[in-house]
Amino acid sequence: MHDSGNSTTSKNTSCSAENKRQRSDGTRGTIKLPHVVIVRAPGLLPMQYTLTELGDELEIPGRTLREWLARGLPHTRDARGHIWIEGRQFAAWVRAVQQARLERKLGEGQAYCVKCRRPVELRNPTSVRRGKQFLLSGICPDCGNSIYRGSRHGQSK
Ligand SMILES: [Zn+2]
Repeated sequence: MHDSGNSTTSKNTSCSAENKRQRSDGTRGTIKLPHVVIVRAPGLLPMQYTLTELGDELEIPGRTLREWLARGLPHTRDARGHIWIEGRQFAAWVRAVQQARLERKLGEGQAYCVKCRRPVELRNPTSVRRGKQFLLSGICPDCGNSIYRGSRHGQSK
């Protein structure tokens, strides 16, 4: 029972040139993303959210968001010290964090099955070349789902 379409904050963000760009490799260590965040992040709008708004949108406590800020979540800070997070940047960050997590866990010949929601040992793993990228394709031994995985061996110099 919450109405979200009623923001009382007047968004008078004067474009301060103090737009600190952080390098977007904020994926050090593993961050455990709640499932609801992974599901909802792609639906965020290309606009600036406050921590409270984003927390409401994703149904997570503001404290969690602050933790992520400290761990590299892209954000901007306006002249009054308020923190703003851009919806699509957030979604991209979620994807990067998730990717880093999955790849860390995967061994050779393994891939993540979206149906089983866990890494599995690929059956009949085959390397497929697509442009400059190598994909590993195979079949999940548990559910029979076809899986594609971006391979690390296809790094271009
Ligand atoms: Zn599976």
